[in-house]
Amino acid sequence: MTTNRIRFAFSQPTATQQETHETIIIGGGMSGLGCAHRLRDHAQPFLMITPEIGGRVRTSPDGNVNYGAYYVTDDYQWTLPLVKTIDRVHITDGLFHQQDARYRFRSLRMLKHLPAMIRFNSDLHHFRQHFNAMNEFAGDFSRRHLIAADPVLQQAFDQPAEDYIRQRRLECLFADFIDPLLWASFFDSPYNVSTFFVLAASLPLIVPMHTFVFDTDAATKGFRDRIVSDSVQHVELGEKWHRVHTTAGRMFRCRNLVFATPMNHTNRLLGPLAQPIRGGIDVSFYHVRGQLRPRYRGAMRNFFTSDEATIISRERDGSYLYYYVNDQIDKYFESYSVITNDHWKPALFFHGKEFVNSQPAPNVFIASDHDMPSMENAFLNGRYTASLVLRPARKSSGNTSRIAVA
Ligand SMILES: Cc1cc2nc3c(=O)[nH]c(=O)nc-3n(C[C@H](O)[C@H](O)[C@H](O)COP(=O)(O)OP(=O)(O)OC[C@H]3O[C@@H](n4cnc5c(N)ncnc54)[C@H](O)[C@@H]3O)c2cc1C
Repeated sequence: MTTNRIRFAFSQPTATQQETHETIIIGGGMSGLGCAHRLRDHAQPFLMITPEIGGRVRTSPDGNVNYGAYYVTDDYQWTLPLVKTIDRVHITDGLFHQQDARYRFRSLRMLKHLPAMIRFNSDLHHFRQHFNAMNEFAGDFSRRHLIAADPVLQQAFDQPAEDYIRQRRLECLFADFIDPLLWASFFDSPYNVSTFFVLAASLPLIVPMHTFVFDTDAATKGFRDRIVSDSVQHVELGEKWHRVHTTAGRMFRCRNLVFATPMNHTNRLLGPLAQPIRGGIDVSFYHVRGQLRPRYRGAMRNFFTSDEATIISRERDGSYLYYYVNDQIDKYFESYSVITNDHWKPALFFHGKEFVNSQPAPNVFIASDHDMPSMENAFLNGRYTASLVLRPARKSSGNTSRIAVA
């Protein structure tokens, strides 16, 4: 499948040569970029090996439509400079579907949920304060320790969302509105994840969100010539040097090796150092041009409950994105021609409470979105990993006990 992926010119050693580098970053998604930016800012030498830049921030061949990460919010401090925001995403543009019923966010149907909506809104504001306070430190401490340092976050992390929804009497609000919105956000039912992820993924209800175009030039500024366009096939981890072998037959040697690939790939490369990881969520999508059936027309987005596991979004160029678990494209489209059909396997890691050890061995580092998904959180995790590379003597379990929300 073709995408508008960046290709980089660089010196290509022959298969028999072995380049030596202080640090190699494997992967050019937001985690790898976060790591690279911090190393660049500290004038530390590194090489990035990646088949493309962006990873799960992926754009259609014509550059108009995002197939992976879809929105950024005004709370994205680190990643907003790496994108050009386009349109504000309004939930009020959406049409919600539940069995035969169709309704809008602002509708009589919402009236009966107003008290629950006010409760949920208030919980979101409270959670956001703690979440953003945590993110102030996320470039320097692990998520495991930051969550443990804040009882509000720890409780949300430990609590199944099902209990939260019941305790706050939000069942009906979730059934009609929040469940479809969250399926569109993380492709699963809120009842299958923790309160933490339900609240984090619901923040766009109170923080403006925007569609965007990824700015690859801004993302790679100052280190384009240190990017090798290749994939890592296998690594040999050593006490002093690590060796990296690529699919193009190149071989590199480094002291510090940063894995910034999705955790399922990282585990494959890590071999015996593989980490226990959370369960992934798979989703598939079509990018099509065509005509929706009449009951789905007239809205920017069609939201469906997690039972139907579908989201359909009309894009600025008139094309449609259709995300699904069970392919029912003919149910929604009267006619269509497929531009792309692909899968994210997995899209996100949401099931479970595992945290990845960012430094599983001396001079071996992991940057990823595993502990906390999203572009911003992946980038922050990359920055955290860079801090470990820069200060290997510092313990990641530094004192976080003074982190507090006013
Ligand atoms: C469908 C979908 C929708 C999403 N929506 C949003 C959203 O709206 N907003 C938001 O903030 N987040 C969203 N996310 C989440 C967000 O995209 C991710 O959390 C984040 O981009 C992950 O970044 P990463 O660098 O950790 O991993 P990735 O982006 O997966 O990057 C991994 C990198 O490693 C490279 N790589 C893989 N294998 C190798 C190898 N063997 N050798 C070398 N390189 C390799 C890849 O090419 C890639 O460059 C969404 C994700 C998906 C899938």
